[in-house]
Amino acid sequence: MEIDQIIQKFESRDKHQILDAVWLLLDCTDRDFMFELLPHLPQFHKKVKAVDLGGVFYQNSKHFDLAMAYVKHVCDGGCHCFIYKSTSLFNPIPQEKKGHLTILSTSDNIELYQVNFEVECSYCNKRFGVTEVHGGHVPWYQWCAA
Ligand SMILES: [Zn+2]
Repeated sequence: MEIDQIIQKFESRDKHQILDAVWLLLDCTDRDFMFELLPHLPQFHKKVKAVDLGGVFYQNSKHFDLAMAYVKHVCDGGCHCFIYKSTSLFNPIPQEKKGHLTILSTSDNIELYQVNFEVECSYCNKRFGVTEVHGGHVPWYQWCAA
């Protein structure tokens, strides 16, 4: 991932490019990269504020806010698992495939249409309990520190 590429996307005023950059950042664990990006954050805020990022079930601007907070968090010595607690978006299965965590156990609660996962962060070994809830059109995920 090139820093110029990320800057270009955030300054594009194009919703798809911006969200693409958001998801790239939320998968990034490279602290040097985050430090390089840090001085650009005020400019990103200014540019992105003028763009309607849309979102049906969830305001996409919240994803942008999360990505910005995550960059700062990593620069302050924080861990990738910071991103899980403030949103209900992250399915642990693809997160495990990307190497961000390990699923220690899975159990079904058929009556409640829920699946419970016990997961461990790959970087700081912190454990979380994740409940996958099938209530609406798309499942959502409740993360709690274990
Ligand atoms: Zn962690």
